[in-house]
Order: sequence, then C-alpha cells, then structure tokens
Amino acid sequence: MPENTSRVPKPRYIFITGGVVSSLGKGLASASLGALLQARGYKVRLRKLDPYLNVDPGTMSPYQHGECYVTDDGAETDLDLGHYERFTGVSAHQADNITTGRIYSNIIQKERRGDYLGATVQVIPHVTDEIKDFILSDAGDVDFVLCEVGGTVGDIEGLPFFEALRQLGQELGREQVLFLHVTLLPYIATAGEVKTKPTQHSVKELRSIGIQPDILLCRADRPISDSDISKIARFCNVRESAVIQGLDARSIYDVPLAYHKEGIDHEVLRHFRLDDAPDADLTRWLDISETLHNPDGEVNIAVVGKYTILPDAYKSLFEALVHGGIANNVKVNVKWIESEAFSKGECGDALKGMHGVLVPGGFGSRGSEGKIQAARYARENNMPYFGICLGMQMAVVEAARNLAGLKNASSTEFGETDTPVVGLMTEWIRGKEKQTRTQSTDLGGTMRLGAYPAILEEGSLVAKMYGTTTISERHRHRYEVNIDFKDRLEAVGLKFSGLSPDGILPEIVEIPDHPWFIGVQFHPELKSRPFEPHPLFAGFIAAALKKSRLV
Ligand code: GLN
Repeated sequence: MPENTSRVPKPRYIFITGGVVSSLGKGLASASLGALLQARGYKVRLRKLDPYLNVDPGTMSPYQHGECYVTDDGAETDLDLGHYERFTGVSAHQADNITTGRIYSNIIQKERRGDYLGATVQVIPHVTDEIKDFILSDAGDVDFVLCEVGGTVGDIEGLPFFEALRQLGQELGREQVLFLHVTLLPYIATAGEVKTKPTQHSVKELRSIGIQPDILLCRADRPISDSDISKIARFCNVRESAVIQGLDARSIYDVPLAYHKEGIDHEVLRHFRLDDAPDADLTRWLDISETLHNPDGEVNIAVVGKYTILPDAYKSLFEALVHGGIANNVKVNVKWIESEAFSKGECGDALKGMHGVLVPGGFGSRGSEGKIQAARYARENNMPYFGICLGMQMAVVEAARNLAGLKNASSTEFGETDTPVVGLMTEWIRGKEKQTRTQSTDLGGTMRLGAYPAILEEGSLVAKMYGTTTISERHRHRYEVNIDFKDRLEAVGLKFSGLSPDGILPEIVEIPDHPWFIGVQFHPELKSRPFEPHPLFAGFIAAALKKSRLV
C-alpha cells in the first residue's frame, strides 16, 4: 500500500451521484474507480444506495430492473454490485446494498419496539440517520468506501439520501469525503454542438441541496473541447482538471483504462492529498483489453431464455460468457432467443450455426416448453449445453420425458403434475440450521439464497472442469430436482454428478456420453471475473470452440 501521507482517518468516502438522465454508467464508473484505486495499492469497498421502495430487488421483474445479483451471504441486490465484484474482485455482502424500503422497514420496526422513546419519527433526522448509519457501518479495514446513489439528482425518492450525504460531508469534513457527479453532455445533431447546459442544471440542482461536487465525470459520445471543459468548470465551480471526459468505450473492460487516462484517480488522490506516486499498475487491465480486441476466432452461443429483449436481465451471464471467451482467446457472439418462440415448433432452425446452447435461470412456466426443446436439440445433436438453474431443471424434465419415458414429467412450479421430477423445496440446511418453507410462504427473500457447498463426483466432467470435488456456489431457487428420480435418470444416462453434502439436493447433472452437457442448480455466472473466468464458462466456450471447428 502507498505510504499514508495524509492524517485523515480511514476510510475516506467517495459519494457517486448522477444527473441529467439515468443509464449513464454510474455503476461502471464506480466499479472502474474502485479498480483504479486498487491498482494504486489501496483497499476499497463499494456500496449502493437504491432509493426505490422495494425492500430488495428480489421481487422486481428483470424487465424493470435488470438482473438480481445474489451475494455469498444470500442478499438479493442490485446488478451494479455485480460490476463492483467483477471489477474489483471484492465480494459484496448484504451490508453493501440498501433501499428506501429496507430503511423504512428498519425504522418502523424500531418505532413499534418503542426505540424512539416517544419521539415523533421524521425523515430528518430518523431516516437520514438510518442512511448514515448504513454508510458508516461495518466498513472494515479499507482505505476507500465508494458509495453510489441510484437514480438522478432531483428524484423525489432520492432526496433523503442526498441529504444524508450532505450531512456526512459536513460531519466528516471535506478532507474525508469526495463528491463525484456523473452527467451527460448531449450532442445536438441539428446544431452540430455538444451541450453543457444539462450538466450545469444538474450541478445547480445538487448545489441547491447543499452538495458541491468535487469531480464531474461527463459522459459524451465524442471528445469534449477544451473550451467546453473550461465552461463547465467555471459554471459548476469545479477545477478544470476535475472535469473528466467519459467517452463511450468499446468494451466495459476498457473503461478503467480510459478513465485513468483522463486522470480520474489522479484527481481523487489530489482531493484527499494523497501521493500520486507510484502510478497505477494497470497491467491486468491492459492484458484483458488486448485479448478482447484481438481474439483468435469466434463462437456463436444461443441463450434461450425469457427476458431476452433486455440484456441487463442477464448481465452477469453475458459477462461470464465474455470471460469464457477471454479464457479461450475467442470472441463470443451471443444470440438471444425467446424460448416462447419454440413452443409451437422445431427449434433446429433457430439454433442453426450455433456452437453451444445456454438455458439460463428463470421463473414461471412461460417459455418452458421451448427451453425443453432446446435441451433436447442440444442433447441429440452433440451440441454443448449449459443449463443454469431453471435451465438445469428443464434438461432434467427433458431427459425424464424423452429418455426415461416419463411422459408427464414436469415441475410443480408450472402446476400440478403426477410426475414431479422438479418440486418445491420444503426444507434444507443453512449452516447448522434447518430452513423450512411451504406453498404459502412469502415470495420475497424466502428462496434458498446465497453460497452453499456441493460435492462433486470423482472423475466427472464437472470435477475435471473445477479441478476439485468440493465447491461453493451461489443459489437462488425455490424448486429443486427430485432426488427420488435419481436412479431412473442415471440408468438412462443423465448422471447426478454433484449433490449437496447431505446427498439430498441434486446440484449438478451431466451426460457423460455427450461432448459437453452440464446443468447446474446454482448461478456460476455470479462468481465469474474477467481475470478469473469461471471454470464452467471457460469449459463451455472451449467445448463450443471445438464444435465450431467440427462444423
Ligand atoms: N424457478 C426455478 C426455481 O425457483 C429456477 C430459479 C432460477 O432459475 N433462478 O427453482
């Protein structure tokens, strides 16, 4: 770690806010800045404050909010935490994501218990105190806590969060706090000009609630002129070198390199009066960028799912496929296929030219028959198949119906069935405790969530991929392959090669007599990193590459 030249106590806080419009890549900016500070030898922790009223994103449709990212400790969190983990390698926790819903639910519990001793409970100070406590709590031994606020300045829901940040700026002192504001510089084609006014307004809005940004990250689709930089600096009361241009990048993994070039980490260190030397060691980012932009071949992967029109719904999955490509030095072309489209007919046409099929996680029966068809096609055509969670369950239903002759095989998730090869999980072990659920349990936060161990069968394909027989992976499911069907399915070639340590919950199935056919009950995509591609994604892409060379 660089020598601490400052007497300011650790950790230092960097608050990242956004203005003008949403979707500017605040999450990526936060993750990239975290990675850059790490590359300078500092320890970081990233957190996300979400102003919406849901207690967590677990019950939100992926169409609304993108994927729900699950942490090791079983929290259902915002997808930005996935970016944080992928870029910094630091595992996120329950304590790294909070929503207005959770804040209020805590406050109401306290109020009912009488903790407020008769006081009138108000937004200021009670809600803001709860937010500040969350930001300051359990930071661990890190140098920087980067804390991103969802939404844009001016949103009604966001106000208590901005107020809490303002108060922290006062209480901790500006030498321990930095405000980074991400804005947009739109290009107006008819005028042929980049406009700075929305940024000026956004900063004005921020200042009207008492926050003066220290650094502006201006997102733009073309280089920003020096005169625009000085104009922004002058109007927004920020020094010129702290107006950072954030241009669109070819790949998200180029962003840390690009922002470093623009001096973002330099400005952060300058603000905190920390030494700028030695410079960031960006070797691993340069290597990733080099591999991504100079691939040696490509493979086509079909992702047969339900939320295919919104790529954010499968964010980690897509990134894990990219990582699998990095591991094999190839470009991965993803074809998103709506599984409902298969329901009526043959899926062979849609899968023509593909070198692998991936059926991802999902909920509900819509499109399930299409997923079953995709699994069958892959099995019968020696095409690499990777089934994740629901994708594994569908591969099991397929094998039960078409290999074991259990014509009515289905999942109880889709309605009553006399052959429940997949059924509701009613009990399982978490640590030393037994968890129980019934049909009528709440939907939020009641699934089997987070990291659980599994034992792999010696000599199986998965054990070979992982290079070990004990693994831990993250889960998010309510249904489970029924162990009672194990013998019948193994007899027809579907091996249960991974089980929970008590041997009750099937975790992995595979077909030994197939080039690469694996279904997993967990979500390996959540733990894949550009620097450490997940072994199953690396293996799947390697198998797809082999297939591409055969056709
Ligand atoms: N819907 C299935 C279940 O609850 C699969 C869940 C998933 O794919 N994440 O078990």
